[in-house]
Amino acid sequence: MRYPHPIHLYVTCNAERLASSLDFSEVISLDSYIESVYNKLVEKDPEQKVFHQAALEVLETLEPAINKYPIYKEKAVLERITEPERVIMFRVPWVDKDGKIQVNRGFRVQFNSAIGPYKGGLRFHPTVNLGVLKFLGFEQIFKNSLTGLPMGGGKGGSDFDPKGKTDEEVRNFCYSFMLELYRHIGQFIDVPAGDIGVGGREIGYLYGAYRKATNNHGTCVLTGKGQGWGGSLIRPEATGYGCVYFVEEMLKTRKEDIKGKVACISGSGNVAQYTAEKLLDLGAKVIAMSDSSGWIHDPEGIDREKLAWIMELKNVRRGRIKEYVEQFKSATYSTSGSPWQLKCDLAFPSATQNEVDANEAKALVDNGVIAVGEGANMPTVPEGIEIFLEHNVLFGPAKAANAGGVSVSGLEMAQNSMRYFWTREEVDRRLNEIMVNIHKSAYETAEHFGKKGNYVFGANIAGFLKVANAMITQGFFA
Ligand code: NDP
Repeated sequence: MRYPHPIHLYVTCNAERLASSLDFSEVISLDSYIESVYNKLVEKDPEQKVFHQAALEVLETLEPAINKYPIYKEKAVLERITEPERVIMFRVPWVDKDGKIQVNRGFRVQFNSAIGPYKGGLRFHPTVNLGVLKFLGFEQIFKNSLTGLPMGGGKGGSDFDPKGKTDEEVRNFCYSFMLELYRHIGQFIDVPAGDIGVGGREIGYLYGAYRKATNNHGTCVLTGKGQGWGGSLIRPEATGYGCVYFVEEMLKTRKEDIKGKVACISGSGNVAQYTAEKLLDLGAKVIAMSDSSGWIHDPEGIDREKLAWIMELKNVRRGRIKEYVEQFKSATYSTSGSPWQLKCDLAFPSATQNEVDANEAKALVDNGVIAVGEGANMPTVPEGIEIFLEHNVLFGPAKAANAGGVSVSGLEMAQNSMRYFWTREEVDRRLNEIMVNIHKSAYETAEHFGKKGNYVFGANIAGFLKVANAMITQGFFA
Protein backbone atom coordinates (compact mmCIF):
# COMPACT_ATOMS: atom_id res chain seq x y z
CA MET A 1 0.00 0.00 0.00
CA ARG A 2 1.10 3.58 -0.71
CA TYR A 3 1.44 5.80 2.31
CA PRO A 4 1.14 9.51 3.12
CA HIS A 5 4.46 11.16 3.76
CA PRO A 6 4.28 14.48 5.59
CA ILE A 7 5.97 17.44 3.98
CA HIS A 8 5.73 21.11 4.81
CA LEU A 9 5.19 23.86 2.32
CA TYR A 10 6.28 27.14 3.74
CA VAL A 11 9.84 28.43 3.37
CA THR A 12 10.79 30.36 6.48
CA CYS A 13 12.89 30.12 9.61
CA ASN A 14 9.70 30.15 11.73
CA ALA A 15 9.13 26.47 12.35
CA GLU A 16 5.88 26.89 14.26
CA ARG A 17 4.10 27.67 11.03
CA LEU A 18 5.99 24.86 9.29
CA ALA A 19 4.85 22.29 11.83
CA SER A 20 1.21 23.19 11.30
CA SER A 21 1.51 22.99 7.51
CA LEU A 22 2.18 19.24 7.29
CA ASP A 23 0.74 18.05 4.02
CA PHE A 24 0.06 14.47 3.00
CA SER A 25 0.69 14.80 -0.71
CA GLU A 26 3.62 12.46 -1.25
CA VAL A 27 3.48 8.72 -0.81
CA ILE A 28 5.88 5.94 0.10
CA SER A 29 5.52 2.15 0.33
CA LEU A 30 5.36 0.23 3.59
CA ASP A 31 5.42 -3.45 4.53
CA SER A 32 1.94 -4.61 5.68
CA TYR A 33 2.91 -5.25 9.33
CA ILE A 34 4.61 -1.86 9.60
CA GLU A 35 1.68 -0.30 7.79
CA SER A 36 -0.81 -1.68 10.32
CA VAL A 37 1.27 -0.38 13.23
CA TYR A 38 1.49 3.06 11.65
CA ASN A 39 -2.26 3.05 10.83
CA LYS A 40 -3.16 2.38 14.45
CA LEU A 41 -0.99 5.27 15.66
CA VAL A 42 -2.78 7.66 13.32
CA GLU A 43 -6.22 6.28 14.20
CA LYS A 44 -5.60 6.48 17.94
CA ASP A 45 -4.29 10.06 18.01
CA PRO A 46 -5.10 11.72 14.68
CA GLU A 47 -3.96 15.16 15.86
CA GLN A 48 -0.40 14.08 16.82
CA LYS A 49 1.11 14.80 13.40
CA VAL A 50 4.72 15.39 14.42
CA PHE A 51 4.65 12.11 16.37
CA HIS A 52 3.33 10.28 13.28
CA GLN A 53 6.11 11.89 11.24
CA ALA A 54 8.80 10.74 13.71
CA ALA A 55 7.30 7.24 13.98
CA LEU A 56 7.01 6.86 10.21
CA GLU A 57 10.60 8.00 9.69
CA VAL A 58 11.79 5.22 12.02
CA LEU A 59 9.29 2.52 11.00
CA GLU A 60 9.99 2.75 7.28
CA THR A 61 13.71 2.17 7.84
CA LEU A 62 13.18 -0.86 10.11
CA GLU A 63 11.70 -2.99 7.34
CA PRO A 64 14.87 -5.01 6.53
CA ALA A 65 15.44 -5.81 10.22
CA ILE A 66 11.80 -6.77 10.75
CA ASN A 67 11.83 -9.00 7.66
CA LYS A 68 15.16 -10.59 8.57
CA TYR A 69 14.24 -11.30 12.20
CA PRO A 70 10.53 -12.37 12.49
CA ILE A 71 10.75 -12.45 16.29
CA TYR A 72 10.21 -8.66 16.39
CA LYS A 73 6.82 -9.13 14.77
CA GLU A 74 5.97 -12.21 16.86
CA LYS A 75 6.70 -10.30 20.05
CA ALA A 76 4.78 -7.20 18.89
CA VAL A 77 7.86 -5.03 19.39
CA LEU A 78 6.73 -2.25 17.06
CA GLU A 79 3.30 -1.98 18.71
CA ARG A 80 5.00 -1.77 22.11
CA ILE A 81 7.88 0.54 21.23
CA THR A 82 5.53 3.15 19.70
CA GLU A 83 3.37 3.34 22.85
CA PRO A 84 4.80 5.25 25.85
CA GLU A 85 5.14 3.20 29.03
CA ARG A 86 3.58 6.10 30.92
CA VAL A 87 2.40 9.67 30.31
CA ILE A 88 2.09 12.13 33.19
CA MET A 89 0.10 15.32 32.59
CA PHE A 90 -0.46 17.96 35.23
CA ARG A 91 -1.47 21.56 35.84
CA VAL A 92 1.18 24.13 36.70
CA PRO A 93 -0.30 27.16 38.50
CA TRP A 94 2.08 30.08 39.09
CA VAL A 95 1.95 33.77 39.98
CA ASP A 96 2.97 36.40 37.41
CA LYS A 97 4.62 39.79 38.07
CA ASP A 98 1.23 41.45 38.56
CA GLY A 99 0.24 38.97 41.25
CA LYS A 100 -2.19 37.11 38.97
CA ILE A 101 -2.45 33.31 38.98
CA GLN A 102 -1.62 31.75 35.60
CA VAL A 103 -2.07 28.10 34.68
CA ASN A 104 0.05 26.11 32.23
CA ARG A 105 0.11 22.43 31.38
CA GLY A 106 3.02 20.19 32.36
CA PHE A 107 3.97 16.80 30.89
CA ARG A 108 6.42 13.96 31.27
CA VAL A 109 6.36 11.20 28.67
CA GLN A 110 8.16 8.12 30.07
CA PHE A 111 8.51 6.32 26.77
CA ASN A 112 10.82 3.36 27.18
CA SER A 113 12.98 2.10 30.06
CA ALA A 114 14.12 -1.25 28.63
CA ILE A 115 17.84 -0.34 28.72
CA GLY A 116 17.93 2.19 31.58
CA PRO A 117 16.06 4.95 33.45
CA TYR A 118 14.04 7.32 31.25
CA LYS A 119 16.33 10.12 30.08
CA GLY A 120 15.49 13.18 28.02
CA GLY A 121 15.05 16.92 28.26
CA LEU A 122 12.32 19.31 29.34
CA ARG A 123 11.06 21.81 26.76
CA PHE A 124 9.32 25.06 27.75
CA HIS A 125 7.76 26.56 24.62
CA PRO A 126 4.20 27.62 23.65
CA THR A 127 4.11 24.94 20.91
CA VAL A 128 4.56 22.10 23.42
CA ASN A 129 1.76 19.53 23.50
CA LEU A 130 1.53 15.78 23.96
CA GLY A 131 2.20 15.04 20.27
CA VAL A 132 5.41 17.09 20.26
CA LEU A 133 6.66 15.42 23.44
CA LYS A 134 5.77 11.95 22.14
CA PHE A 135 7.81 12.70 18.99
CA LEU A 136 10.76 13.87 21.07
CA GLY A 137 10.50 11.00 23.58
CA PHE A 138 10.27 8.44 20.77
CA GLU A 139 13.40 9.84 19.06
CA GLN A 140 15.18 9.83 22.41
CA ILE A 141 14.78 6.02 22.78
CA PHE A 142 16.95 5.34 19.72
CA LYS A 143 19.38 8.20 20.33
CA ASN A 144 20.09 7.08 23.89
CA SER A 145 20.56 3.52 22.74
CA LEU A 146 23.11 4.68 20.14
CA THR A 147 25.26 6.38 22.80
CA GLY A 148 26.10 2.95 24.25
CA LEU A 149 25.15 4.21 27.73
CA PRO A 150 22.35 2.62 29.83
CA MET A 151 19.61 5.22 29.31
CA GLY A 152 15.96 4.78 28.33
CA GLY A 153 13.93 7.41 26.48
CA GLY A 154 11.68 10.15 27.84
CA LYS A 155 10.79 13.79 27.30
CA GLY A 156 8.76 16.42 29.11
CA GLY A 157 7.98 20.08 29.38
CA SER A 158 5.26 22.66 29.28
CA ASP A 159 3.49 25.15 27.02
CA PHE A 160 4.94 27.89 29.28
CA ASP A 161 6.92 30.50 27.31
CA PRO A 162 9.95 31.82 29.25
CA LYS A 163 10.50 34.49 26.57
CA GLY A 164 9.72 37.96 27.90
CA LYS A 165 9.17 36.70 31.47
CA THR A 166 11.03 38.14 34.45
CA ASP A 167 13.47 35.96 36.38
CA GLU A 168 10.99 35.86 39.25
CA GLU A 169 8.20 34.61 36.95
CA VAL A 170 10.46 31.90 35.52
CA ARG A 171 11.44 30.87 39.06
CA ASN A 172 7.80 30.76 40.19
CA PHE A 173 6.90 28.61 37.22
CA CYS A 174 9.86 26.21 37.67
CA TYR A 175 9.07 25.77 41.38
CA SER A 176 5.45 24.92 40.65
CA PHE A 177 6.40 22.58 37.77
CA MET A 178 8.82 20.64 39.99
CA LEU A 179 6.39 20.47 42.91
CA GLU A 180 4.46 17.96 40.79
CA LEU A 181 7.27 16.39 38.75
CA TYR A 182 9.50 15.47 41.71
CA ARG A 183 7.34 12.49 42.68
CA HIS A 184 7.80 10.88 39.25
CA ILE A 185 11.59 11.19 38.80
CA GLY A 186 14.73 9.79 40.45
CA GLN A 187 18.22 8.58 39.65
CA PHE A 188 16.98 5.02 38.91
CA ILE A 189 13.61 6.11 37.46
CA ASP A 190 13.77 9.17 35.25
CA VAL A 191 16.46 11.85 34.89
CA PRO A 192 15.33 14.98 32.98
CA ALA A 193 17.64 17.64 31.47
CA GLY A 194 17.21 20.88 29.46
CA ASP A 195 15.91 21.47 25.93
CA ILE A 196 14.38 24.51 24.19
CA GLY A 197 13.59 27.16 26.82
CA VAL A 198 15.27 25.19 29.60
CA GLY A 199 18.89 26.21 30.14
CA GLY A 200 21.15 26.67 33.17
CA ARG A 201 18.81 29.18 34.84
CA GLU A 202 15.77 26.90 34.65
CA ILE A 203 17.69 23.76 35.70
CA GLY A 204 18.92 25.72 38.75
CA TYR A 205 15.38 26.65 39.84
CA LEU A 206 14.07 23.13 39.12
CA TYR A 207 16.86 21.57 41.17
CA GLY A 208 16.28 24.01 44.04
CA ALA A 209 12.60 23.05 44.07
CA TYR A 210 13.46 19.33 43.96
CA ARG A 211 15.75 19.66 47.00
CA LYS A 212 13.17 21.68 48.89
CA ALA A 213 10.42 19.16 48.16
CA THR A 214 12.44 16.05 49.00
CA ASN A 215 15.20 17.19 51.39
CA ASN A 216 17.45 15.13 49.13
CA HIS A 217 20.10 15.72 46.48
CA GLY A 218 18.94 12.51 44.80
CA THR A 219 22.52 11.75 43.59
CA CYS A 220 21.55 12.62 40.02
CA VAL A 221 17.96 13.55 39.45
CA LEU A 222 18.60 16.21 36.79
CA THR A 223 21.48 16.74 34.38
CA GLY A 224 22.82 20.01 33.03
CA LYS A 225 23.39 21.13 36.63
CA GLY A 226 25.76 24.00 37.38
CA GLN A 227 29.42 23.52 38.08
CA GLY A 228 29.97 23.26 41.81
CA TRP A 229 26.64 21.54 42.52
CA GLY A 230 26.96 18.33 40.53
CA GLY A 231 27.19 19.51 36.92
CA SER A 232 29.66 18.04 34.47
CA LEU A 233 32.19 20.11 32.62
CA ILE A 234 31.38 20.23 28.87
CA ARG A 235 27.64 19.51 29.35
CA PRO A 236 26.59 22.95 28.02
CA GLU A 237 28.92 22.50 25.04
CA ALA A 238 28.18 18.83 24.44
CA THR A 239 25.37 18.84 21.84
CA GLY A 240 27.04 21.42 19.60
CA TYR A 241 30.54 19.98 19.98
CA GLY A 242 29.22 16.45 19.46
CA CYS A 243 27.39 17.45 16.27
CA VAL A 244 30.59 18.89 14.82
CA TYR A 245 32.51 15.74 15.84
CA PHE A 246 29.90 13.64 14.03
CA VAL A 247 30.17 15.75 10.87
CA GLU A 248 33.96 15.52 11.11
CA GLU A 249 33.66 11.71 11.07
CA MET A 250 31.31 11.80 8.06
CA LEU A 251 33.75 14.07 6.21
CA LYS A 252 36.62 11.65 6.92
CA THR A 253 34.82 8.99 4.86
CA ARG A 254 35.40 11.32 1.88
CA LYS A 255 38.91 12.31 2.97
CA GLU A 256 37.71 15.81 3.80
CA ASP A 257 37.88 17.83 7.02
CA ILE A 258 36.28 20.85 8.68
CA LYS A 259 39.19 23.25 8.16
CA GLY A 260 38.43 26.02 5.67
CA LYS A 261 34.77 25.02 5.20
CA VAL A 262 31.97 27.62 5.20
CA ALA A 263 29.10 26.81 7.58
CA CYS A 264 25.53 28.01 8.14
CA ILE A 265 23.78 27.42 11.47
CA SER A 266 20.15 28.00 12.41
CA GLY A 267 19.17 29.01 15.94
CA SER A 268 21.32 30.96 18.37
CA GLY A 269 20.57 28.98 21.52
CA ASN A 270 22.62 26.38 23.34
CA VAL A 271 23.16 23.95 20.46
CA ALA A 272 23.82 26.65 17.85
CA GLN A 273 26.29 28.56 20.03
CA TYR A 274 28.53 25.59 20.78
CA THR A 275 28.30 24.26 17.24
CA ALA A 276 29.71 27.63 16.16
CA GLU A 277 32.41 27.51 18.84
CA LYS A 278 33.67 24.06 17.82
CA LEU A 279 33.55 24.96 14.14
CA LEU A 280 35.78 27.96 14.89
CA ASP A 281 38.12 25.71 16.92
CA LEU A 282 38.48 23.44 13.89
CA GLY A 283 39.09 26.26 11.40
CA ALA A 284 35.69 26.68 9.69
CA LYS A 285 34.02 30.00 8.85
CA VAL A 286 30.47 30.50 10.23
CA ILE A 287 28.40 32.95 8.18
CA ALA A 288 24.81 32.68 9.47
CA MET A 289 22.73 32.19 12.62
CA SER A 290 19.07 32.85 13.48
CA ASP A 291 16.31 32.99 16.07
CA SER A 292 12.56 32.54 15.75
CA SER A 293 12.17 36.13 14.46
CA GLY A 294 14.77 36.14 11.67
CA TRP A 295 18.36 35.42 10.65
CA ILE A 296 21.68 37.18 10.16
CA HIS A 297 24.20 36.76 7.36
CA ASP A 298 27.75 37.89 8.08
CA PRO A 299 29.89 37.22 4.97
CA GLU A 300 33.04 38.19 6.89
CA GLY A 301 32.34 35.39 9.36
CA ILE A 302 31.13 35.19 12.95
CA ASP A 303 34.49 35.11 14.71
CA ARG A 304 35.17 34.41 18.41
CA GLU A 305 34.57 38.00 19.47
CA LYS A 306 31.25 38.16 17.62
CA LEU A 307 30.22 34.76 18.99
CA ALA A 308 30.99 35.90 22.55
CA TRP A 309 28.75 38.91 21.87
CA ILE A 310 25.93 36.60 20.67
CA MET A 311 26.32 34.42 23.79
CA GLU A 312 26.01 37.47 26.02
CA LEU A 313 23.02 38.71 23.97
CA LYS A 314 21.18 35.37 24.19
CA ASN A 315 22.23 33.96 27.58
CA VAL A 316 22.46 37.13 29.69
CA ARG A 317 20.52 39.98 28.06
CA ARG A 318 18.04 37.55 26.44
CA GLY A 319 17.78 39.81 23.38
CA ARG A 320 16.98 39.20 19.69
CA ILE A 321 19.46 38.23 16.97
CA LYS A 322 18.56 41.29 14.88
CA GLU A 323 20.60 43.40 17.34
CA TYR A 324 23.71 41.79 15.80
CA VAL A 325 23.53 43.99 12.70
CA GLU A 326 23.53 47.16 14.81
CA GLN A 327 26.74 45.98 16.46
CA PHE A 328 28.52 44.44 13.43
CA LYS A 329 28.08 46.40 10.22
CA SER A 330 29.34 43.59 7.98
CA ALA A 331 26.09 41.68 8.53
CA THR A 332 22.54 41.84 7.21
CA TYR A 333 19.32 40.76 8.95
CA SER A 334 16.28 39.24 7.29
CA THR A 335 12.86 38.05 8.43
CA SER A 336 12.09 36.17 5.22
CA GLY A 337 13.88 33.15 3.76
CA SER A 338 16.45 31.33 5.88
CA PRO A 339 20.18 30.64 6.18
CA TRP A 340 19.64 27.63 3.87
CA GLN A 341 19.51 29.88 0.82
CA LEU A 342 23.21 30.79 1.27
CA LYS A 343 26.15 29.09 -0.42
CA CYS A 344 27.89 26.92 2.17
CA ASP A 345 29.76 23.62 2.56
CA LEU A 346 28.24 22.61 5.90
CA ALA A 347 24.71 23.15 7.26
CA PHE A 348 23.75 22.75 10.92
CA PRO A 349 19.99 23.12 11.52
CA SER A 350 20.00 23.72 15.30
CA ALA A 351 16.70 25.46 16.15
CA THR A 352 13.64 23.20 16.03
CA GLN A 353 11.65 20.53 14.15
CA ASN A 354 10.64 20.87 10.46
CA GLU A 355 12.78 23.95 9.85
CA VAL A 356 14.44 22.73 6.62
CA ASP A 357 11.86 22.12 3.91
CA ALA A 358 12.24 20.51 0.49
CA ASN A 359 12.93 23.81 -1.28
CA GLU A 360 15.59 24.72 1.22
CA ALA A 361 17.20 21.29 0.95
CA LYS A 362 17.21 21.73 -2.83
CA ALA A 363 18.78 25.20 -2.49
CA LEU A 364 21.51 23.82 -0.23
CA VAL A 365 22.23 21.03 -2.75
CA ASP A 366 22.28 23.49 -5.67
CA ASN A 367 24.73 25.63 -3.71
CA GLY A 368 27.07 22.67 -3.23
CA VAL A 369 26.52 21.68 0.41
CA ILE A 370 28.75 18.71 1.33
CA ALA A 371 27.41 17.75 4.77
CA VAL A 372 24.41 18.41 7.01
CA GLY A 373 24.54 17.81 10.78
CA GLU A 374 21.15 17.92 12.51
CA GLY A 375 21.74 19.69 15.83
CA ALA A 376 18.01 20.10 16.43
CA ASN A 377 15.55 17.21 16.67
CA MET A 378 13.92 16.31 13.32
CA PRO A 379 14.73 19.70 11.71
CA THR A 380 14.57 18.36 8.13
CA VAL A 381 11.25 17.29 6.61
CA PRO A 382 11.22 13.77 5.07
CA GLU A 383 11.22 15.11 1.52
CA GLY A 384 14.27 17.24 2.36
CA ILE A 385 16.11 14.18 3.70
CA GLU A 386 15.36 12.33 0.46
CA ILE A 387 16.81 15.22 -1.52
CA PHE A 388 20.03 15.19 0.51
CA LEU A 389 20.38 11.41 0.19
CA GLU A 390 19.62 11.41 -3.55
CA HIS A 391 22.35 13.99 -4.10
CA ASN A 392 24.93 12.14 -2.05
CA VAL A 393 25.10 14.80 0.66
CA LEU A 394 26.59 13.46 3.90
CA PHE A 395 23.48 13.63 6.07
CA GLY A 396 23.85 13.20 9.86
CA PRO A 397 20.34 12.61 11.30
CA ALA A 398 19.50 14.09 14.70
CA LYS A 399 19.40 10.76 16.52
CA ALA A 400 23.07 10.28 15.79
CA ALA A 401 24.43 13.80 15.22
CA ASN A 402 22.96 15.52 18.29
CA ALA A 403 23.46 12.62 20.72
CA GLY A 404 26.43 14.39 22.32
CA GLY A 405 24.20 16.26 24.77
CA VAL A 406 22.57 13.21 26.26
CA SER A 407 25.92 11.41 26.18
CA VAL A 408 27.51 13.95 28.48
CA SER A 409 24.34 13.87 30.59
CA GLY A 410 25.08 10.15 30.93
CA LEU A 411 28.65 11.04 31.92
CA GLU A 412 27.25 13.53 34.47
CA MET A 413 25.19 10.68 35.97
CA ALA A 414 28.30 8.48 36.09
CA GLN A 415 30.38 11.20 37.80
CA ASN A 416 27.62 11.90 40.33
CA SER A 417 27.37 8.19 41.16
CA MET A 418 31.13 8.08 41.74
CA ARG A 419 30.97 11.38 43.66
CA TYR A 420 33.88 12.50 41.55
CA PHE A 421 34.56 14.89 38.66
CA TRP A 422 36.48 14.46 35.45
CA THR A 423 38.46 17.32 33.93
CA ARG A 424 37.24 19.25 30.91
CA GLU A 425 39.74 17.41 28.72
CA GLU A 426 38.62 14.03 30.05
CA VAL A 427 34.92 14.69 29.40
CA ASP A 428 35.64 16.12 25.95
CA ARG A 429 37.78 13.08 25.09
CA ARG A 430 34.97 10.74 26.17
CA LEU A 431 32.41 12.79 24.21
CA ASN A 432 34.55 12.57 21.09
CA GLU A 433 34.99 8.83 21.58
CA ILE A 434 31.20 8.35 21.93
CA MET A 435 30.50 10.38 18.76
CA VAL A 436 33.13 8.41 16.83
CA ASN A 437 31.47 5.16 18.01
CA ILE A 438 27.98 6.39 17.10
CA HIS A 439 29.24 7.25 13.63
CA LYS A 440 30.90 3.86 13.27
CA SER A 441 27.82 2.02 14.45
CA ALA A 442 25.46 3.94 12.11
CA TYR A 443 27.86 3.63 9.17
CA GLU A 444 28.50 -0.10 9.61
CA THR A 445 24.84 -0.95 10.27
CA ALA A 446 23.77 0.86 7.09
CA GLU A 447 26.48 -1.00 5.16
CA HIS A 448 25.41 -4.35 6.67
CA PHE A 449 21.85 -3.84 5.44
CA GLY A 450 22.98 -2.75 1.96
CA LYS A 451 22.48 0.99 2.47
CA LYS A 452 26.08 2.22 2.64
CA GLY A 453 26.33 5.94 3.45
CA ASN A 454 22.69 6.23 4.59
CA TYR A 455 23.07 7.30 8.22
CA VAL A 456 19.29 7.64 8.72
CA PHE A 457 18.94 3.97 8.05
CA GLY A 458 22.01 2.95 10.05
CA ALA A 459 21.17 5.05 13.13
CA ASN A 460 17.54 3.89 13.28
CA ILE A 461 18.33 0.19 12.98
CA ALA A 462 21.36 0.26 15.29
CA GLY A 463 19.38 2.15 17.94
CA PHE A 464 16.34 -0.09 17.54
CA LEU A 465 18.04 -3.51 17.76
CA LYS A 466 19.48 -2.99 21.24
CA VAL A 467 16.21 -1.73 22.74
CA ALA A 468 14.08 -4.34 20.93
CA ASN A 469 16.31 -7.17 22.13
CA ALA A 470 16.12 -5.90 25.72
CA MET A 471 12.32 -5.68 25.47
CA ILE A 472 12.05 -9.26 24.23
CA THR A 473 14.45 -10.60 26.86
CA GLN A 474 12.54 -8.88 29.68
CA GLY A 475 9.14 -10.29 28.65
CA PHE A 476 6.10 -8.75 26.95
CA PHE A 477 4.78 -6.93 30.04
CA ALA A 478 8.11 -5.19 30.80
P1 NDP B 1 17.49 26.95 23.02
O1 NDP B 1 16.21 27.30 23.66
O2 NDP B 1 18.75 27.22 23.73
O3 NDP B 1 17.60 27.60 21.57
C1 NDP B 1 16.63 27.37 20.60
C2 NDP B 1 16.92 28.25 19.39
O4 NDP B 1 16.03 27.89 18.34
C3 NDP B 1 16.70 29.72 19.66
O5 NDP B 1 17.53 30.47 18.84
C4 NDP B 1 15.22 29.89 19.27
O6 NDP B 1 14.89 31.21 18.90
C5 NDP B 1 15.13 28.97 18.07
N1 NDP B 1 13.76 28.45 17.97
C6 NDP B 1 13.05 27.82 18.94
N2 NDP B 1 11.82 27.52 18.52
C7 NDP B 1 11.76 27.95 17.26
C8 NDP B 1 10.75 27.93 16.27
N3 NDP B 1 9.55 27.40 16.52
N4 NDP B 1 11.06 28.47 15.05
C9 NDP B 1 12.28 29.01 14.80
N5 NDP B 1 13.27 29.06 15.70
C10 NDP B 1 13.01 28.54 16.89
O7 NDP B 1 17.36 25.37 22.68
P2 NDP B 1 18.50 24.33 22.36
O8 NDP B 1 19.60 24.99 21.62
O9 NDP B 1 18.80 23.57 23.60
O10 NDP B 1 17.73 23.31 21.39
C11 NDP B 1 17.67 23.50 19.98
C12 NDP B 1 17.29 22.18 19.32
O11 NDP B 1 18.27 21.19 19.67
C13 NDP B 1 15.95 21.59 19.73
O12 NDP B 1 15.39 20.89 18.64
C14 NDP B 1 16.34 20.60 20.82
O13 NDP B 1 15.36 19.58 20.98
C15 NDP B 1 17.63 20.05 20.22
N6 NDP B 1 18.52 19.41 21.16
C16 NDP B 1 19.00 20.09 22.25
C17 NDP B 1 19.88 19.47 23.12
C18 NDP B 1 20.52 20.20 24.25
O14 NDP B 1 21.42 19.61 24.87
N7 NDP B 1 20.16 21.42 24.55
C19 NDP B 1 20.22 18.03 22.95
C20 NDP B 1 19.73 17.45 21.72
C21 NDP B 1 18.89 18.12 20.90
P3 NDP B 1 14.19 32.17 20.00
O15 NDP B 1 15.30 32.60 20.91
O16 NDP B 1 13.61 33.26 19.20
O17 NDP B 1 13.16 31.32 20.70
